[in-house]
Amino acid sequence: MRLILLGPPGAGKGTQAARLVEKHGIVQLSTGDMLRAAVAAESEVGLKVKGVLDRGELVSDELIVSIIADRIEAQDCANGFILDGFPRTIAQADALEELLANKGIKLDGVVQLEVDEAILLDRIKTRAAESAEVRSDDNEEALKKRLDVYNKQTAPLVDYYKGKGSLKPVDGMQSVDAVAAQIDAAL
Ligand code: AMP
Repeated sequence: MRLILLGPPGAGKGTQAARLVEKHGIVQLSTGDMLRAAVAAESEVGLKVKGVLDRGELVSDELIVSIIADRIEAQDCANGFILDGFPRTIAQADALEELLANKGIKLDGVVQLEVDEAILLDRIKTRAAESAEVRSDDNEEALKKRLDVYNKQTAPLVDYYKGKGSLKPVDGMQSVDAVAAQIDAAL
């Protein structure tokens, strides 16, 4: 199974991805986690992107596409994967389509988690307050920027995938279990 999880920050992509990993025996490819790992390791990429992440902006399409292109070649992706946080722009979606076409792979669907903006802000503030490791972009200013970036650059992907007939909208404002059940039904 090959899926995209699409939704704004705080929509529950990570939570639902973890559950799908267990259910289907596939891997979660979170570009945010990959970039945070690079920052923590102070690698060349990490040093380059740290400021971008902290400000809540997007790293370049070129960089993130090359990271994903390498990652999906790995053996553990042979069984399938969930893309969590990628693609985030139309250019990334086009690049992904080309990548998958070259490998003769088809996506099984794009799950869109729909959550009202007011709820997102609350969820992320709760996440920041409760988690042991606070993300450097879970603060008011970066968060506003991340939502703004989502609305401008990522939200157009809803129509993009709707047009391709692969969009599966799910009400992300229910309980975790109810959202999970709706995703399973949609797939
Ligand atoms: P996330 O954990 O998905 O919220 O991602 C955290 C941050 O990593 C984002 O705010 C961006 O700075 C960066 N990032 C993650 N995925 C992408 C992507 N597909 N394109 C550009 N930047 C990304």
